[in-house]
Amino acid sequence: MKQYTPMIQQYLKVKAEYQDAFLFFRLGDFYEMFFEDATKASQLLEITLTSRDGGSTEKIPMCGVPYHAAAGYIEQLIDLGHKVAICEQTEDPKQAKGVVRREVVQLITPGTVMEGKGLQDKENNYLAALFAFSNETYGLAASDLSTGENKVTSLSSLDEVMNELATLQVKEVVIQANLDSTIQHQLRERLAVTLSIEEGNSEQEAFIPLMQNVNQSELRQVVSLLFSYLHRTQKRSLDHLQPVEHYNVYQFMRIDQYSKRNLELTETIRSKGKKGSLLWLLDETMTAMGGRLLKQWIDRPLIQQDQIERRLTMVQTLISSFFERQELREQLKEVYDLERLAGRVAFGNVNGRDLVQLKKSLQQIPLLKQILSQINNQEISELTNNIDPCEELTDLLERALVDHPPLTIKEGGMIQEGFHAELDTYRDASRNGKTWIANLEREEKERTGIKSLKIGYNRIFGYYIEITKANLNALDDSRYERKQTLANCERFITPELKEKEAMILQANEKMVELEYALFLELRESVKEYIPRLQQLSHLVSELDVLQCFATVSEMRHYVRPILTKGRELVLKDGRHPVVEKVMDSQEYVPNDCEMNAEREMLLITGPNMSGKSTYMRQVALTAILAQIGCFVPAAKAELPIFDQVFTRIGAADDLISGQSTFMVEMLEAKNAITHATNQSLILFDEIGRGTSTYDGMALAQAIIEYIHDKIGAKTLFSTHYHELTVLEEELAQLKNVHVQAVEQNGRVVFLHKIKEGAADKSYGIHVAELAELPKELIKRANEILKGLEEKGQQQESHTKNQQVKEEQVAVEVEKEAAQLSFFQEKVAVSPEPTSKDSKIIEELRKFDLLEMTPLDAMNALYALQKKVKK
Ligand code: ADP
Repeated sequence: MKQYTPMIQQYLKVKAEYQDAFLFFRLGDFYEMFFEDATKASQLLEITLTSRDGGSTEKIPMCGVPYHAAAGYIEQLIDLGHKVAICEQTEDPKQAKGVVRREVVQLITPGTVMEGKGLQDKENNYLAALFAFSNETYGLAASDLSTGENKVTSLSSLDEVMNELATLQVKEVVIQANLDSTIQHQLRERLAVTLSIEEGNSEQEAFIPLMQNVNQSELRQVVSLLFSYLHRTQKRSLDHLQPVEHYNVYQFMRIDQYSKRNLELTETIRSKGKKGSLLWLLDETMTAMGGRLLKQWIDRPLIQQDQIERRLTMVQTLISSFFERQELREQLKEVYDLERLAGRVAFGNVNGRDLVQLKKSLQQIPLLKQILSQINNQEISELTNNIDPCEELTDLLERALVDHPPLTIKEGGMIQEGFHAELDTYRDASRNGKTWIANLEREEKERTGIKSLKIGYNRIFGYYIEITKANLNALDDSRYERKQTLANCERFITPELKEKEAMILQANEKMVELEYALFLELRESVKEYIPRLQQLSHLVSELDVLQCFATVSEMRHYVRPILTKGRELVLKDGRHPVVEKVMDSQEYVPNDCEMNAEREMLLITGPNMSGKSTYMRQVALTAILAQIGCFVPAAKAELPIFDQVFTRIGAADDLISGQSTFMVEMLEAKNAITHATNQSLILFDEIGRGTSTYDGMALAQAIIEYIHDKIGAKTLFSTHYHELTVLEEELAQLKNVHVQAVEQNGRVVFLHKIKEGAADKSYGIHVAELAELPKELIKRANEILKGLEEKGQQQESHTKNQQVKEEQVAVEVEKEAAQLSFFQEKVAVSPEPTSKDSKIIEELRKFDLLEMTPLDAMNALYALQKKVKK
């Protein structure tokens, strides 16, 4: 180390403490990075890598970003899961003896971002801490630094930990170094989170008041671990942190992460985006806070009837109070993100504009209360009464701030006149001074007769009187003292000008200084209100979600669900909420669903693409909507309260996303079977499909029997194994239903209508035949199928793998054939094949289906369809 220059030595010393972060080392107007940080960052950020002398023989790699543009670069690194330590000069370089003192002032990590792109308005950004007390007990604490929300829970398996972290969309987990390495590995691999090591977990005095709801000493440890990390990395006031809420995942409906994904609750499977999800359908919230709460509610449906009814009643009231709801929506639109504003006030990074936003938001609250008071409902009145408009704060902000303050807080222009007498005096002085100068200019022009005479200002000479060279001879004044000669003019000063100048400049300087001080004072005053603002924000967001439910329910003609204590589930004219919205409601075919003590399981058969999985999901989504307190898409709905929902979708769907393995299918099935109770809802879509026919069928049957006899959960089971429909005779609570398909003018039409009983044994190829696919093709498909079935019977002579592959193909052939029928319908529009048609038919004929993987088949079909569509 000795060979390095003192500055590099200083760098290395700081860097040693922040090994896992990029160290942004402040040098003048730049943040510089050195050594390995520089090499890595230059690649990640695509900035030029240079080098500098640092005292040793070799040059040190270096790269840097300008101070004013650093935010964007920091965001990029954080987005990639890295951390950034900000190291600032902490003494005035002019006063420093030797190297300027520098210190890390903040460590920014994926879980602790406070601003920028990383922070979505309608999403929380949780940092979690995890403690393993034993194999069966884990403590998990989570904190959203931007909103100040904190919570803790205990979980009884690693799977649950993973589920919870996935639900909270945690990007960073704080652990102790001695946490089991397999757990660490799993966290990294399965959830791709950034792991941060923190050792200190003793309770710090400042945080104790936040832990009043946490009694178990183990949970206090994990909360302390989280707070220690926040304290160590953020190095600033965290006054906005809210008391830790102790929650229990078993007090909500549980839906594991796979099922959440399958049901597309908050994002779609394919695009991973919000669009197309239940959240997207529901999001009629008007505020960012409401948007975040909506997501939390969807993630955690309720299981206590009184809580659900409370929400439903408020939604019902809001539906019937149409005009009040419209007004409420208008008011809410004007309410900014109070929760995050409060966080930034505590953090010390609000500016005048933020406080104006706060003022405007608070100004809406009395109106909001007034609107709500017109609604006659006990629950809503209670909520309204709890809303505290923080009037003194509104008043203070109204008096203190101008309407359009600048972005910076160091150049004045924020504080309103009349707020502070001394500030007003300086302002007068400055303003009068300027008027005086304008007057002087006019007088001097008149007196000297020089029209082009002007008074200007620059930083070096201050105020001056400028006269062009051509006019100099007209000047005859001993008070004019020459200050500066330029190419075509001369600049002068006079004693009066100097005197006024001093006054103006001093007033300006004092004004800016005083404004800054007043602003900080104002910020401190706002800080006092943080808990009240947070409370207000909770109530406003609840109202927002309730009005959102009312708005969607009314718009989409949903009904209030009736929650039953018995085993009945009755949906009349039920719809899949998202498919209905996407499709244009006219085409959607509503379906009934009836389940009860005699009908606990429905075995659903029907051709591919007929609507089996849509039907199953519709039932699950309806149950979830009901339990979050929203009305549901049906003409009538009666449901029990489910404790858990499990789903497993067919392997074929996974093939598209490229991640299918039969193992995943079985793991998900196991998850459902081991955790479901008779209060649960299970959806199994084409289970057993990922393996050979007999294998798959055997498994499917065994699973059905197991659920039927041992669990008694309400179950919807769709299958292409027609053979399974005989189970209805053996299993008392199992009933067959099927999706209807009819032949119309020689074509198959899927009615998407669920009917009692099993479908007749006609799937892919049969349907394809009805759809008049070329006879030759049908014949060939039948041959292939026959061959495969024969081969299946001589199982011994085949290796298992081969067979699995072939059977999969057979299944896919069926499915493709069914899909081809759609295509055929399109081709069949003109009775005489055109040359384009015959080309396409020719291409079809050439397909060697046995040699194709399902994915190939899908692609080929896609290409053909494209041609037809042209
Ligand atoms: P399956 O599971 O039987 O293969 P899906 O449930 O995936 O079929 O449905 C296939 C398509 O049929 C859906 O994407 C949807 O467009 C349409 N569909 C399904 N159910 C309905 C319905 N009830 N009304 C109208 N269209 C439907």
